[in-house]
Amino acid sequence: MKYRDAIYGRCLVGRIEKGEDLLDAFSSFARSNQIRLGFITAIGALQEARIALYDQQKFEYITWDIKEESEIDNLTGNISVKDGEVFCHLHATLTKPDGHTIGGHVCRGCVVFACEFIVQEIIGEDFVRIPDKDTGLSLWQI
Ligand code: ZN
Repeated sequence: MKYRDAIYGRCLVGRIEKGEDLLDAFSSFARSNQIRLGFITAIGALQEARIALYDQQKFEYITWDIKEESEIDNLTGNISVKDGEVFCHLHATLTKPDGHTIGGHVCRGCVVFACEFIVQEIIGEDFVRIPDKDTGLSLWQI
């Protein structure tokens, strides 16, 4: 386990407009507010979604396109730095109209119907994502 102490900064509360892409909205929000480290929590609804699961053998994402509305039961994510840019990493659990839930890594292509969020900034040194050979993922260098 690798970690370090963290200090809370600003707490920002708001909503994303209907029609915006969920991931793009959080990425531009974090960039425009100079949030380089933090966490995100949100609830709401999507018009359509694209989520993924990381295949731990093939080191690639398996994606699902959900071409119907869904409820965002829970969205959790973090903000850090990758390739010198602010990077948002989001996961969500969604409920579909048939009552079944699906969850995973949030990809571009999640179109917001409504979304209320809380973003907690963390102050301090950047958490930078670097390629990790054991997982194939870009993970925090701590
Ligand atoms: Zn993920």
